[in-house]
Amino acid sequence: MTLAVTAPDRAPAIPESFRFADQNPLAGEPYLTSPMELLPPWAARELPVTAWAWDALVDARSTALVVDPYRRISVSWMRELVRLRPTVAPPRDVCPDCWGTTVGVDTDASLTGTVGALVLCACAGNHWIGVA
Ligand SMILES: [Zn+2]
Repeated sequence: MTLAVTAPDRAPAIPESFRFADQNPLAGEPYLTSPMELLPPWAARELPVTAWAWDALVDARSTALVVDPYRRISVSWMRELVRLRPTVAPPRDVCPDCWGTTVGVDTDASLTGTVGALVLCACAGNHWIGVA
C-alpha cells in the first residue's frame, strides 16, 4: 500500500453513527484496521488508548481488544457543533468554514449530492491523504 497526497473526488460525509467494523471512508478499510492518521475525528475521539498504542494494535491486528467492533456509536455531537455555531464571523485563527470543529456543511450539494449534509472540512487535513 502506498500513501499519496491526493484530493478526493468528494468530501467524506459525516455519518449519523458508526461501528468500528464499518468501512472507514478515509481508508477504504474498516475503522478497526485503520491507522490513527486515517481515522476521521468522530472515530479518533472514541479511542480508549493513545495514538501510538492504537497504531501498535492495528499492526498486531488486535484493536478489538480495546474497542467493540459492533457497538454503534452516535456522531450526533458533530451535528450539534454545527447547530451551535455562531452566526458572526469566526476569529482570524479559526477555519472560517467549520470554526475549527472539522465539521463542514455541503451547502450546495456539490460534495455529497445532498444539500445540508455534514462533511469533514478540508482543514481536518487527514482526509486529503488518499490510498493509491
Ligand atoms: Zn475547517
